[in-house]
Amino acid sequence: MSLTPMMRQYREMKSKLNDTLLMFRLGDFYELFFEDAVTASQVLDITLTGRDAGEAGRVPMCGVPHHALDGYLERLVEQGYRVAICDQVEDPKTAKGLVRREIVRIVTPGTALTEATDARYLAALAHEGDEWGLALLDMGAGDVWVGGGRADEVRDHLARFRPREVLLVAEEEAPAWLEESVKRHGGIVTRVPSPPPDALVAHYGVPHPEALGLAAGSAAVSAANMVFQYLKDTQMADLRHLSRPRPLLESGRMWLSERTIEHLELVPAGSGKDRRTSLYDVIRETVTAAGSRLLRTWMVRPLVDRAAIEERLDAVTALSDDFLLRAEIRETLRGMHDLSRLLAKCSIRRATPRDLLALAHAIEKGHGALDLLPPDAPPLLARLVQDVPDFRPLASSLANELVEDPPATASEGGIFRDGIDPEIDRLRALQTDGRQWLRAFEARERERTGIKSLKIGYNKVFGYYIEVSKANLSLVPEDYERKQTLASGERFTHPELKAREADILTAAERVVEMERERFDAWVERIRERASDLQRFAEVVSTLDVLASLAELAVKRGYVRPEVTDEIGIEIREGRHPVVEASIGSEFVPNDLVLTPEEPIVLLTGPNMGGKSTYMRQAALIAILAQMGSFVPARYARMGLVDRVFTRIGASDDLSRGQSTFMVEMTELAEILREASGRSLVLLDEIGRGTSTYDGLSIAEAVLEDLAKRRSKPLTLFATHYHELISFSEQFACVRNQSMAVEETEDGIRFLHSVVMRPSDRSYGIQVARLAGLPDRVIRRAMEFLAARETLPEVASARRDAPQDARHPARARDEGAVALDLFTAPYRDLAEWLAAIDVMRVTPL
Ligand code: ADP
Repeated sequence: MSLTPMMRQYREMKSKLNDTLLMFRLGDFYELFFEDAVTASQVLDITLTGRDAGEAGRVPMCGVPHHALDGYLERLVEQGYRVAICDQVEDPKTAKGLVRREIVRIVTPGTALTEATDARYLAALAHEGDEWGLALLDMGAGDVWVGGGRADEVRDHLARFRPREVLLVAEEEAPAWLEESVKRHGGIVTRVPSPPPDALVAHYGVPHPEALGLAAGSAAVSAANMVFQYLKDTQMADLRHLSRPRPLLESGRMWLSERTIEHLELVPAGSGKDRRTSLYDVIRETVTAAGSRLLRTWMVRPLVDRAAIEERLDAVTALSDDFLLRAEIRETLRGMHDLSRLLAKCSIRRATPRDLLALAHAIEKGHGALDLLPPDAPPLLARLVQDVPDFRPLASSLANELVEDPPATASEGGIFRDGIDPEIDRLRALQTDGRQWLRAFEARERERTGIKSLKIGYNKVFGYYIEVSKANLSLVPEDYERKQTLASGERFTHPELKAREADILTAAERVVEMERERFDAWVERIRERASDLQRFAEVVSTLDVLASLAELAVKRGYVRPEVTDEIGIEIREGRHPVVEASIGSEFVPNDLVLTPEEPIVLLTGPNMGGKSTYMRQAALIAILAQMGSFVPARYARMGLVDRVFTRIGASDDLSRGQSTFMVEMTELAEILREASGRSLVLLDEIGRGTSTYDGLSIAEAVLEDLAKRRSKPLTLFATHYHELISFSEQFACVRNQSMAVEETEDGIRFLHSVVMRPSDRSYGIQVARLAGLPDRVIRRAMEFLAARETLPEVASARRDAPQDARHPARARDEGAVALDLFTAPYRDLAEWLAAIDVMRVTPL
């Protein structure tokens, strides 16, 4: 079937793109055809029309105006689409036949430069046997990380970075965990061909990967090659703003696994209604987009080096003590354009004149804020100022050259002020003169011909013309030459007009051209300094983050933690930052003391009593302290923690297709394997995923294992197994604590305060009543409970337990096995059960 030549051009281009939408420049629009048009019209909610494609008849088409492209692209990319942009690469005016078109770049979820403040990562994964390599790129910030490790380590990195797009070699099979992890974080998988082995070294212009600190032939280098080849294929420009690869596992960082980050709700997860408030949401007081990104990085990668933490804390202290300084810094930086992102746009030569002005302003703001720092600033702040070259001359000459409100594209001139370039001035004067001449010419001709409505007009095809309405055609003089006939009149030209036209048009074209050249030269100048400017951007972001932490401390009444290299935690009147932010002064502060002698707390108390809040609070305070933040407490002395481990039931376990219990045990295994004497471990309701006695036995064995270690991790162990309370009698390192409950006439009230004794009851039935279980069921439950508590076997097992100290578990199990529903105390129950009409009861 033969298509029109243009549609053939389209088809050929499209055939080389798989799974990528093609936006095809046609006049003032970018059009999509066929299936692409259907997809885009739905995603973008734009009208689907059609276009005659030759013998194929009308084919689906939809399009967006060229000047609005970026907004539409952002929406497509946000939905996980890749989009190839095809431009006209020759001037349609001068083109012979079909205009030449080329794909000028491919915008993808992992590489797009959008307005969003969140970092957007591209990842590539490769493996050599069991060794996995991971390369990550933040296009907007110009950051590159490369590293390798075991599959689970790579998975944790993916969780921290949440890449929008993950590259995999097409022929290789992807493990299920990978696809699942990518999807869960809202990313897409892009299959790419095997990359050439030198893509990485070629980008950095180094002889071998070792020059970048990477081992030749490693999986990490393969992954990096994939990223750089992909950039080459999609961006079609070499990227000057990218940092040298940084190692993924930087020493001196607290390690937080994927699960821990999720369990502790450090960063926003979910979306829309499901979006829970995260720690990040609560502590973010940054005023710039880049600052917000950096804050997040600090939070998920806290420090473990005391000196480095103290340095940050000193800076936060200084800024929190000095209200005026802090306010001025924040005011100066507020709304600062995202310097890194602007640099990235320059780097791929996609910057607009507006971007350049924004860049100049951003540099000025950044310097303005750094200038505010006093000479006696704490070392970290002092270093920030010292480290940066002075970019003010660059910024001010740029700002002086650009007009106040530069255009959104560089293709139509009007970018630079008068007086910058004599040639541009001269050409502009010619244009002005020309326009004046045209006005004079128009007046003269009206006079000469007596046609009052005579006008000079312009269009692309005929150039300048004289338009005369039908009624006046008889008055047209001899020297007018007819050009075009319209319904309303005719258009003419004139020798004098023709002569001038050439001057005016060439001047106009030439100005646009010269401005464009000057603009491109500026972009190149910035590209050349891109890596220094990138560092400057980082310094400014650091200042934003420090000021943000200071603001947070003051606003929420946080205190500076004392950080020590000793082991142990002492928190006085600690609060959970996120829960406190939502309930305010109703939050009940609590103490927590963990020492090397008594590192394990066994936490009992009813559901809803506040156990998980209390446990998470400890971890969040440790993380805040080690990222250099003040903490929500009256006083905190924090021994540095190397890792935080959590085993907390997560609601989304099931959706991952693994049984809850299996997930629980896998995590537990990791904790037991890897927790050190410097780790903080949170264990919430271990064993609840299986039958009571299995669960109890596992919980007991885990507690015993931790308690018997020589270096015991700092552990908070929440449980509803009251049987474990007696543990503290055998192990001095275990302390019982519980959440206080007040018994009132009509049930119980949660006090949310921690007391230094075990909970005497589990109050499950009282909680059930609070939840609205019908009275008759509550009554029966109480009767069953009373019956159970007088069961001879259980009672004797309870009595026996402490005596058989070496085998507490066995002692209790023997008691447990003897349970028999249908012996004496349970006859009532049996009868009652038999009387239930199962077809009529509700699920409750
Ligand atoms: P548990 O883990 O014991 O079931 P949670 O920690 O989930 O209990 O807390 C239950 C509820 O109590 C939460 O909604 C929380 O807002 C509230 N809560 C927890 N701790 C406190 C506290 N210290 N002060 C005030 N309210 C609290």
